[in-house]
Amino acid sequence: MPEVLVKPEEQQLIQEKFEELLKLVKLKEDQDEPNIRMAFEIAVNAHAPQRRKSGEPYILHPIEVARICADEIGLGPTAVIAALLHDTVEDTEVTLDRIETLFGTKIAKIVDGLTKLDGLYNVPSVQAENFKKVLRTLVEDVRVVLIKMADRLHNMRTLGSMPRNKQLKIAAETSYIYAPLAHRLGLYSFKTEFQDLCMKITDRETYSEIAKKLAATKRDRNRYIEEFIGPVKEQLNDLGFAYEIYGRPKSIFSIWNKIKKKKVQFEEIYDLFAVRIVLDVEDPRMEKNYCWQVYSTVTDIYRPIPERLKDWVTTPKSNGYESLHTTVIGPDGRFVEVQIRSRRMDEIAEKGFAAHWKYKGNTPQPDVYEHWLDNVRELMDQNEGGDAVEFLSDFKTNLFQEEVYVFTPNGDMKVLPKGATALDFAFSVHSDVGYHATAIKVNNKLVPMGTKLHNGDQIVVTTSSKQMPNESWMKMVVTGKARSKIRSALKEKRRKQGEFGKESLERKCKNLRVDFDEPVDLLVKYLGLKSRVDLYYGIAMGTINLQVLKNFKVEGNKLVEIQEEEIIQPVPKPVEINRPRKASQDGRPRLLINGQEASDLDYSLATCCNPVKGDDIFAYVTSTKGMRIHRTTCPNAEHMMANYGYRIHKAEWVSSANTSFVAELLITGVDSGPGVIERLTHNISSELGLNIRSLSISGDEGYFEGRLKVLVLNKDQLHLTMQHIQKLEGVSSVIRVD
Ligand code: MN
Repeated sequence: MPEVLVKPEEQQLIQEKFEELLKLVKLKEDQDEPNIRMAFEIAVNAHAPQRRKSGEPYILHPIEVARICADEIGLGPTAVIAALLHDTVEDTEVTLDRIETLFGTKIAKIVDGLTKLDGLYNVPSVQAENFKKVLRTLVEDVRVVLIKMADRLHNMRTLGSMPRNKQLKIAAETSYIYAPLAHRLGLYSFKTEFQDLCMKITDRETYSEIAKKLAATKRDRNRYIEEFIGPVKEQLNDLGFAYEIYGRPKSIFSIWNKIKKKKVQFEEIYDLFAVRIVLDVEDPRMEKNYCWQVYSTVTDIYRPIPERLKDWVTTPKSNGYESLHTTVIGPDGRFVEVQIRSRRMDEIAEKGFAAHWKYKGNTPQPDVYEHWLDNVRELMDQNEGGDAVEFLSDFKTNLFQEEVYVFTPNGDMKVLPKGATALDFAFSVHSDVGYHATAIKVNNKLVPMGTKLHNGDQIVVTTSSKQMPNESWMKMVVTGKARSKIRSALKEKRRKQGEFGKESLERKCKNLRVDFDEPVDLLVKYLGLKSRVDLYYGIAMGTINLQVLKNFKVEGNKLVEIQEEEIIQPVPKPVEINRPRKASQDGRPRLLINGQEASDLDYSLATCCNPVKGDDIFAYVTSTKGMRIHRTTCPNAEHMMANYGYRIHKAEWVSSANTSFVAELLITGVDSGPGVIERLTHNISSELGLNIRSLSISGDEGYFEGRLKVLVLNKDQLHLTMQHIQKLEGVSSVIRVD
């Protein structure tokens, strides 16, 4: 045992932090304070030998997580106790039994939900399995997921001391799951902070560029907000109730999204802020009335844009969000968004509906939340024992979206996720209706089965017992229920078709005099397949050639893989096999992977994001094609890192090699007569001396859009090229394609 684990000055800091936390908790019963103190004592002792990556005592983490729960989400003593204990069972000697004895079943259950699953080494995605576990507890107690959010937020805020590849992995998981989940739970400030923190890690440059520009324009913006607010205040003072009015800057992430989506420059974005008016209303029945009164006052001064009016006061969003939004034309003709809401609505918007729901007694609409939880339960039931990665992606498409309301021929209402199709509807009625759907009518018109539904649609499904799902159906549905039903029907079909393949493999094994079972699994692994069914199916369809067995030798009654040097005759390998190449591939850029020269490794640049020297990159180990190098901003990065974090490795460029990279640019502009292509090609190849891979231009009515693939040496050269093109006559924007 080390003699001093925590230094005296640290001890004092820990005590101070804890007392601060205690002041923030809204105590309800006499036992609350002694219980919180007991939880603190247990956690302090249990974590005493541990330190965080930053070097500070570990216990500061659970204290801070508990503070976020109390202060930023508004949770009570139960959650605070569970948050203080959340890492004890996983990382220390403390057992769940002990927690249950001391604090009761409820807290033990929550802590259990927050404890990661152990011994999950043979499942494809540990992260997805763990998340599934969190969700299973979520449907029992929402606090599990809220504490998990607080835990994640604190980890994200202190990510700086982690190694880069860990940072990327955690950021990806956060933007893949936690940010959308925060949105769905109505934790808007969490969502915004998650997104900004993630962007800061994956796209450092752009983040700091926008942050700098925001800071530089702050004075002007504040002056404008004052000018806008002035006349509004004058009028509101006459209404006779207390209120607050202020400008709120938009998040860096949302500004960046706007720049990308609208293909504009930072300087062209005017709505970098929104004006918020928060009303203090005593009587909840008057809230709506007052909000509309304020709306009327604001729009008397500034002209509103009718299409931009959003009334979530009359019909709150399904995550509980209530607010009245409008966009008006402010001074200098600039568009300004105005958000009007009561103090209560503002609290829900900031801290989430969850905090108000169930634990704070009477709430206006408990059913929106219940309904969502019902959907989570249903989705979990369907996936019982199934693939966690599939579950996660179904979960994303189904539960993070808003809903559409549609009707059966009898006028019964069905709620489906936004984007759901006519075929999804058929499956939601009954799985048999889905399986056998032949024709679907929406509002009395025959439509393709993949047609997206809209609010108020009425749907009639015709069935035939001869109809069965086929592969293309997967593309026509989005709901978890339909997907899992079609998936299992297809699996069954594949299994049947694979019978023939199984038989011929059995025959082959018999001839070689080897046992049947073992070689099957060996081949599945060797070929990088997912299951036996895939192997049988491949053999039956001819995509897998049984010649592959020549890579094995028979020892006893078992198959053994022949090492490469032992193979005397080259064997034609089936298309699906692609084993690592030992020889170095010429022309590849030089890289360090995990700090080591990578020339001996089998790696290549990903074609989805075309990394260029100087880009932030990482290496991803594919199941059959060696390592792929992706940009950290690659659109696929998030998915890979969130689901397969253990396959991610750190990668860096080695300076010196003279290799070229393909970069893709999207160029838009006004087409001032013919010859745009000539002008672009001349400039790029003659003036800049670069090689063009491809260039295609389309456009009409004087506007053009061009896609250019060009070979560059590094990121600096790419930037220079972009600047150069930007200055050409007629060009309005140049964007690198992700
Ligand atoms: Mn933790």
